[in-house]
Amino acid sequence: MAGNLNIVNASSVVAVTDGGRARAGRAQGELDIVHDAAVIIRDGAIRAVGSTVELLDQWGDDDVPTIDASGKTVMPGLIDCHSHPLFGGDRHDEYAERLGGASLAQVAAGGGGIWSSVVATRNAADDVLLDRLQIALLRMVRGGVTCAEVKSGYGLTVATELHQLELLQRARAASPIELVITFLGAHVVPRDLSDADPGEAYTNLVAGEMTERVVAQGIADFQDVTVEDGLFTPEQAARIIARSHALGLRTRVHADAWKPSLGWRTACAAGAVSAEHLTYTDDSEIDAVGASATIAVVLPVAELIYMTDRRANARRLIDTGVPLAISTDYCSSIHATSLLSTMTMAAPWFRITPAEAIVGATLNAAYSLGVQARRGSLDVGKRGDAIIVDCPHPNELFLGLADEMLSAVIVDGQLMPISPAT
Ligand SMILES: [Zn+2]
Repeated sequence: MAGNLNIVNASSVVAVTDGGRARAGRAQGELDIVHDAAVIIRDGAIRAVGSTVELLDQWGDDDVPTIDASGKTVMPGLIDCHSHPLFGGDRHDEYAERLGGASLAQVAAGGGGIWSSVVATRNAADDVLLDRLQIALLRMVRGGVTCAEVKSGYGLTVATELHQLELLQRARAASPIELVITFLGAHVVPRDLSDADPGEAYTNLVAGEMTERVVAQGIADFQDVTVEDGLFTPEQAARIIARSHALGLRTRVHADAWKPSLGWRTACAAGAVSAEHLTYTDDSEIDAVGASATIAVVLPVAELIYMTDRRANARRLIDTGVPLAISTDYCSSIHATSLLSTMTMAAPWFRITPAEAIVGATLNAAYSLGVQARRGSLDVGKRGDAIIVDCPHPNELFLGLADEMLSAVIVDGQLMPISPAT
């Protein structure tokens, strides 16, 4: 799939120029906006970004499809770097129970929580799982996403995790957008183990046979490991991560979603590419770790739906020199597929600027997935991925419900269907 396209007369082109690393500190808040600008795409790749008048002189062939973006803003295609879209069952009842006053422990005692999705997913037919995944991907595209990370993690046995990764591989072949596949064997500790110390036994399984088989089959781009009090300890997670790195599989971490669990420190010390959630990461831990190459991925909708009494300290992370990314956390209990809305919500939620949020959903997210060579910014040579929003300046997107302002989603130079009927 490779299109030719001219996007011209845009009031703003938000380039988010790639300087060779994820952006942190003050650079997280810089967008590299070009006004009255054009983006030229040939054979699916960006060939030029700049003044409309100048570029049309060189590239204004009559037979190239052209979008007049007058009064609009062109941005890089959004990158969703954290999702769990392959699952069976439904969990809306437990959310309703929690909204009605039930505690997490009460919901879990009633059979809810991640474990209920594991059981439902293990029992679901492949075509049911894949149909649902396909619908989620189309909805992601309608929220401005042109590349997404997708995790396994609702299997938690060697056979079921491998099978879920194989289904994600099949979905990738049919996907309208690039998928980055993550093995999440260490999602939670399975409840059906009979070992005296289930957490330790399961850690040994993940760090041993599971990781070996996943790597041998070459079916994952990353391994994700949870560091959370009551699930995997920092020491257990570090062991899984070390094994993964020894076998050549890069890692990401679910950290501190429910309690301060030293997840951020563990992820950085182990050399994980990213750590996600960070809702309960202590300020003292952020300060002690300092600037990092590990990217902090914050998930505002997860905090909203989980009704946590804290939020990740995104402001402190950015100011400390940590690159920040933003994702939906689409999963069995969070059905947010629009990264455009999640990104705009992240700004007031975390008290970060529109520019910092945009960098978090584009360039930094691309770096967290290792796709920065081809996506995440409007740089010449990258794939022709962009979104067009119906406002002259990107800041305006943040004043309302952003999805209402999405005008076009372009992948590899081709317009994607974004009306709800498609
Ligand atoms: Zn997650």
